[in-house]
Parts: sequence; C-alpha cells; structure tokens
Amino acid sequence: MGKSDAGVKVPRVAAGHAILRRRGAHRAMKYADVLNDVLEAVRPVIGRGRIATYIPALAAVDPHRFGLALATVDGEVFGVGDCEVPFSIQSISKVFTLSLVLARDGESVWRRVGREPSGNPFNSLVQLEVEHGVPRNPFINAGALVVTDRLQALTGNARETLRAFLRAESGNPAVDFDTVVAASEAEYGHRNAALAHFMASYGNIENPVGSVLEAYFWQCSLAMSCTDLARAGLFLARHGLLADGSRLFSRSEAKRVNAVMLTCGTYDAAGEFAYRVGLPGKSGVGGGILAVVPGRCALCAWSPGLDEKGNSVAGVAALDHFTTLTGLSVF
Ligand code: GLN
Repeated sequence: MGKSDAGVKVPRVAAGHAILRRRGAHRAMKYADVLNDVLEAVRPVIGRGRIATYIPALAAVDPHRFGLALATVDGEVFGVGDCEVPFSIQSISKVFTLSLVLARDGESVWRRVGREPSGNPFNSLVQLEVEHGVPRNPFINAGALVVTDRLQALTGNARETLRAFLRAESGNPAVDFDTVVAASEAEYGHRNAALAHFMASYGNIENPVGSVLEAYFWQCSLAMSCTDLARAGLFLARHGLLADGSRLFSRSEAKRVNAVMLTCGTYDAAGEFAYRVGLPGKSGVGGGILAVVPGRCALCAWSPGLDEKGNSVAGVAALDHFTTLTGLSVF
C-alpha cells in the first residue's frame, strides 16, 4: 500500500485467509506467515499517533519502530520487525506486579483496589477523590501504586522481585532497568506522587510514600523487547504455570488477571480494545501492548506512536489484524 492511500483503517484480511479461518484451520496455520501478513497490513499506520513526551527519554524514541512477537505455550517463538529491540515497558509492568502480589497474598489486595474499568485517563486524580482513595483497578496508575506498595511490603524489594521474575520468565538474563528513564520518571513524577500521597491520606499506602514511588518508577523503566515480553506473559496463557513448570498461582487466578486485563488493561479504551482485538491486553506509554490468548500463546506488539488514550496505534492495529486473520480471540 502506497503512502498516498495510507488510511488509519488497516487493509482487509485477504480472502484466502478468510477461507482458512472458516475451516477452523488456525491450528495448522503458520504463525510466521501470519506475523508477516500483519506487518504488511499495518505498515501504513506505523508512525501514526504521538509518542509519549512526558519524559525526554521516551520523546527520543524513533516513532517508526514496529515489532511483533508471539510465543506459544509449546515453546515456539516467532517475531517480525523490531521484535528484538528493547523498549520501555511502562504500564505493562502492572500485569506482572499484580500477578506477583496475587501469588503471594491471594485475594486480599482487592480490599484496597477495585477491578472495574475506570473510564478515565490512567493518571486521573478525580475518580480517586470521589472513591475515597481506593483506586478503580490495578492497571491505572493509582491502582498500580497500591499493588507495588503491597509487593514492597511482601518482599522487601519490589523492583528486584519484578526484575528477577521477568528475567526468569523471558529467559533473558539481560532484562534490566533503564536508569535514565527511571531518573526521568522520578523527576517528572509529580502526578504519581500526588496520587500516592492522596491514597496515603486515606491509609491505603503501607510503606513510606517515597519508597513506593521509587519502586514504581523503576518498574516502569524496565526495558524489554517484544520477544522478551511475549515469553514473560506466557504464564497467563499457561493458566498460571511458569517457564520452569512450577505454578505461580491457580488457574482461576490466571483467569482473573486475564479478565482484568480485558476490562481494564487499555485504560479508558478497554471497550474499544475488546471490540477490535478481543483479547486480554495491557498497554504502556512506551508503545508496547502485551496480549494473551489463553491456552495458546502470548503476543507483544510495539510501536511508539500512541492514540489519545495512550495506546499504540500500530500496536492495536496489529493485534486487531492478528485476531481477525486467525480467529484467535476469546470471543
Ligand atoms: N510511567 C508512566 C506513568 O506513571 C506509565 C503510564 C503508562 O504506561 N500508562 O505515568
């Protein structure tokens, strides 16, 4: 597709693939071919949207990057484009901190954070005041701060617990924090500080606020590639089983994390994401989106251009195209 006719709408799925889907042949379908088709389909929208500029480190990223990786529960990994390029995972980290807290603490975290879609921007202060310091869900900033606070209390070192987990699950011991991003997050973190202090005023933060913010800024700064994230998200596709075959949490808890991802993982665009993609997904302002096909695979799409809700334009388009092409949505 040429530049002149590049519309926001992604080209329709080729007829041949539609036939494949009607026959339910996705089992035999080659993921490598699918990912290449998706890449070609989204090319026109790569670079669309606005990259996050709230910190200089993110504003410097090339908006024309695009990567897509898929890891299957059988251990196969496929990728196209910039799938090996590390990027700032930002709010995708919230899936992992929530999972680590649920694994250690069970359901008690739900006394301090809700699990309803917010319908508000991810860093909104308004709702928190109306709801007396109890965040709507764990995937908006306020909710993630509560979860990180709990992880800090449970482990004594939330950021190290998270890094070790992501290294183990991705199989990549080089997964690490980006110290420049972490420092920027702290420097420009006034709104997150406001959220944390406000919740502390309601007794909904148990550690010193500064230590919770620090752990949160570090978790946002983790740099991982699409391949790393697809692998690291597989425990949600494996119904709670980790890379080494041990169990992080029950099948039911995995289902619940996936459910909260579906309803709350893309902020106030979760309805639109469910409509277009139909998978549990979690986005971050670095332009990454982790999505899960329970029982089958985990995918990660990355492209830095964001829509007005903070979700990657090309990333959503890629996942939309993937589920359209394969029929692999939860619906
Ligand atoms: N570091 C960002 C923040 O706290 C993460 C937000 C996001 O990815 N949506 O504002």
